[in-house]
Order: sequence, then C-alpha cells, then structure tokens
Amino acid sequence: MPSAYYAPLDQPLTSTDDDDEEADIERHQQQHQRRPKGAAAPSIPFLEAHHHSPMAHLRVASGVVGGRRRCLLPLVLALLFLIAFCYFTFGADTRLALGLGGGGGGSDDSDDGMHSLDGILSRALNETLHLCSEGLFDQRLYVQDKPMEEYGNLPIIYFVTPTYPRREQIPELTRLAHTLLHVPRLHWLVANDQEGCNVFMDLMLKGFGIPYTHLASPMPSNFRKAKPAPRGVANRRAALQWLRQRNLTNGILYFGDDDNTYDLRLFSEIRQTQRVSMFPVGFIADYGVSGPVVRKGKVVAFLDSWLAGRRWPVDMAGFAVNLQYMAQFPNVNMPYKPGFEEDRFLRSIGLRLDQIEPRGNNCTEILVWHTQTKSKKAAVVRLESEYLDGRSNLGALFRSLKIMGVASASDTEGPKALISKNGKAAAHSTILS
Ligand code: UDP
Ligand code: MN
Repeated sequence: MPSAYYAPLDQPLTSTDDDDEEADIERHQQQHQRRPKGAAAPSIPFLEAHHHSPMAHLRVASGVVGGRRRCLLPLVLALLFLIAFCYFTFGADTRLALGLGGGGGGSDDSDDGMHSLDGILSRALNETLHLCSEGLFDQRLYVQDKPMEEYGNLPIIYFVTPTYPRREQIPELTRLAHTLLHVPRLHWLVANDQEGCNVFMDLMLKGFGIPYTHLASPMPSNFRKAKPAPRGVANRRAALQWLRQRNLTNGILYFGDDDNTYDLRLFSEIRQTQRVSMFPVGFIADYGVSGPVVRKGKVVAFLDSWLAGRRWPVDMAGFAVNLQYMAQFPNVNMPYKPGFEEDRFLRSIGLRLDQIEPRGNNCTEILVWHTQTKSKKAAVVRLESEYLDGRSNLGALFRSLKIMGVASASDTEGPKALISKNGKAAAHSTILS
C-alpha cells in the first residue's frame, strides 16, 4: 500500500487512490485540531523528513523539469546524488546497528523497497536498536488459579510496551507488570525510548518472571523536536522488527502503552484473534471512548471524536493482530506520523472492514482504559552527602530513587529535607550522625 509516508527512498511515488486519500488527510489535518498533546498546529514530521530526502527533491525536480533544458543539470546532479546515496546505503551492511542476535531471520535484507521497518529507510531515519536483555522462560508456577501447564498451547500474546525515561516510568511499569503477572502465555516486549540499556530495568523485568524482551529503541533525534512528536513509534517499530527477525508468525500482537489500564478479560478476548480484533477504549479524547460501531455482530463504522480522514480511527490499544495474518504483509509499517500511527499500521496490513472481529461483547464493554498519569519533574532534596552513607537507610534509598529517576539528594540545591521526631523538626546531624 504505497503512500507518501511509506514510500521508501528508492522508489518513486506512485499515484494510487491512496495518494488522493493522503492529500485529503493532509487537508483534514490542517483543518482539524490534532489529538496528540500540545498539538495546536500539527506538523507532519515524517512527511517533512521525507520531503527533505534526496528522493523527494528529485521528485519535485522531475515534476518541474518538463521541457526545460536548463533544469537538466540539477536533475542529473540529483540523480547522481541519489545513485551515490543508494550505493552507500545498500552497499554496506544494510542491517541496522542491531544488537539483535545477528543471524536470526535476516530474510528481509533483500529489501523489497516498500516497507521501511528495516533496510534503507530505517537507516536513513537514523534508527538504532539494541537488545538489552531477554528472559524466554516463564518462571511462574501458577497464573490466576491454575498451574501453568494447564494453559498448554494457548497462542502467545506479544504485548508491546513503548516506554520512556521520566519520573513515572518505574511505577508505571511496576503497575503494568502486576497486571501482566495474571496473564498466561504472554511475552512482554518492553521497548525503551533511550539510547542505552537501563540496567535497573533489566533487573526489574527479570524479577517479574514473565517472559520478556527489553529493547533500547530511541526516537530518532530529528523527530524529538517535532510538535507533536511521534511518541512511542520508534519503540513499536523496534518490536515489529524484533518479531520479524525471529520470524514469529504464531501468536497475537497487541500494543499496550505503559500508562493504560487493562482489564484481565481483555487478554482472553484478544487471544483468539484470527486476523484483527477491535474493541472500545475508554477515556479517549472528547467522547471518553473510541471504538467500532457494531451491527448484527459486524463492525460497520467507528466512533471517535477525531477523524482527520483516517480510515481506521481507532486507538493503539483498541485492536489486536494475529501474527500469521500480519506475516502475509511484508510491507507492514508504522510511520512516524503523530495521530496516524494506528491508521497507517492497519492500512499496511491490508485490513478490510468485513474482516474485523468485534470483541468485548460486541464492543459493548470497556476492557482497556487510556489512563494518563500526572507527570511531574523529578525532585531535588537538600540533604548533606556526608549523611548518605551506611549509618541510615537514606543513602541507599536516595541512590535507588536516583536510579529510578524519581528524586535526588543534593548538598546545595532544593528544599532542605525535613526530618522530624516527636512532631518536631530535627537537625540532620542529630538524627544522622
Ligand atoms: N512514549 C515514548 N517516548 C516518548 C513519549 C511516550 O516511548 O517520548 C511512550 C509512552 O511510554 C507510552 C506511549 O509512548 O507507552 C504513548 O505515550 P503517552 O502515553 O505519553 O501518549 P498518550 O497517552 O498521550 O497517547
Ligand atoms: Mn498514554
């Protein structure tokens, strides 16, 4: 499904129905207020990035050239530049700087050009991806009220959680983990939006005993400045790539953000997804809900307060995909296009309305909530470093809070730590020396 957003750098834009739709969508996007945070005047980072690509210049140039000879030189130069670009990009090892166990499933290195999850476009986007740690064995003996063995051959749910460093990260993941601990046959793909691997998170994830993979998949720097930024996209793309590289075609894919609230019934509902299942998500935008309209057991339309020309106006948490179904679509993609990630992803897997499986009692129940946690800056507390040793718990406590990005102690900055005894403030020296 070629479009301006998916088109790789080595293929000219083809004029398809979709292109017209894209144009429509651009118009809509300009006319309508954007859903993502702080999005008064939405920009289109992916498209912009694309238009600044050498290929985009060439496209523009070739449109203008027409019969004008004096434009021939720039065209030739642009062509030479493009050839050089392709040579250097394809010629070298096209694989990303992945720490992803090398050999596994490299079948897609012969980039067919239409998808941008690996190969040339990923590289052009400056994406990086590292496998930080992985636990493939389920260490739980019981899940809910049954021994693990009783869940036998249930299809595995690949639960993809984009996450990013901020004060709330560790509590969010802790809360989510304690939901997932009740779910059998689940592999948790946690993709962190930061350059390096967070060792604290490695240990934490390992400790839960749920099969997991911890990836470091930072948002490419050029998108970070965009307003709105494509939140969680690099992470989800990383997870899609991880699935592809392992050739995982058995199981169910679900995108579960770190701050949402999941009803345990959601997992049994999505587990039997044949192609794509959908269900309402609570707390979305202006209506407090977004989801399919169902008649006679079939999805016939969508209810969502922000349309913007999207064919699939659903939230990321509002659908699940069967991996075997997804595997039929080599161009599977999620572009860096804020607000349109779901729509473009679902377009890239060739979804048809009549194929959608409504879940949650024909979309009458809310099994997932788009809750959002109030965010605040990490605290700085004035507490002399001479007291942060083994004499009290405070040294270890503040070291741990610092690692989690929650609070830090300083000799000189922040409000003085209030330590009290018998209802009265006490000098630090009295209590801690
Ligand atoms: N996220 C991320 N990088 C960012 C911002 C967000 O990886 O810079 C993740 C975040 O942890 C969450 C998902 O992307 O799992 C969606 O972000 P958020 O919950 O902030 O978006 P919203 O709730 O507004 O849709
Ligand atoms: Mn969220």
